[in-house]
Amino acid sequence: MSIACSELTKVYEGGKAGWPALRGLSFEIRTGEFVAVTGPSGCGKSTLLNIIGLLDEPTGGAYSLNGRDVGSMSDSERSGLRLGEIGFVFQSFHLLNSISAADNVCLPLLYAGEYGAAMRHRAAELLKKVGLHGKEHKTPLELSGGERQRVAIARALANSPRIILADEPTGNLDSASSREIMGMLSELNSEGITIVMVTHDRDLAARAGRNIRMRDGRIEP
Ligand code: ADP
Ligand code: MG
Repeated sequence: MSIACSELTKVYEGGKAGWPALRGLSFEIRTGEFVAVTGPSGCGKSTLLNIIGLLDEPTGGAYSLNGRDVGSMSDSERSGLRLGEIGFVFQSFHLLNSISAADNVCLPLLYAGEYGAAMRHRAAELLKKVGLHGKEHKTPLELSGGERQRVAIARALANSPRIILADEPTGNLDSASSREIMGMLSELNSEGITIVMVTHDRDLAARAGRNIRMRDGRIEP
């Protein structure tokens, strides 16, 4: 899925007056790319990722996904696209700690209308894919940080997304786990999934196919 943004701006209601979070970003990400977004804290990386992921809307400018203008879609078209095509991975995992790894992976499958044995089988397959075979019944609190992020990746993969958006996915991990997660994202990219990853880690950014550097709501040339 290609991502094309033109003169994207974002002003938060209740944000600092006269300080837009995004100030006119134009860029393209082609299908199958692995792009790292870097830049200092507060420069607008998460804002951009949320807009790309259809979790938030820009104040101005245009965004098209696979050639289709997102601005002219209905809310239900947008959420359908988000559920079906986009997987999210967050720095703090965003797992439910009271249920098992498998149940966390089942949640998006339930939303998609799967149930019963087929759903459980798919969750087990996804956990196996991320190297967690045998740990399906552990709760997140019984897993290491790196393992929790693997569960989150398995969950992100549940609906076979064509884009994965990762916001500082290694921000809470030690360097060995960070490399593992980066390796996993690279592997998914080699399977054809477009990846956009926000990171502070220069070594990881260097391993992406391309970097987009941001500062003060703009892309640095
Ligand atoms: P980054 O991810 O690069 O650290 P963010 O996208 O989170 O940056 O934030 C960009 C700017 O927008 C910051 O000045 C931040 O304070 C502001 N901001 C982010 N989210 C909100 C919000 N929900 N309401 C108001 N201001 C926000
Ligand atoms: Mg952020």
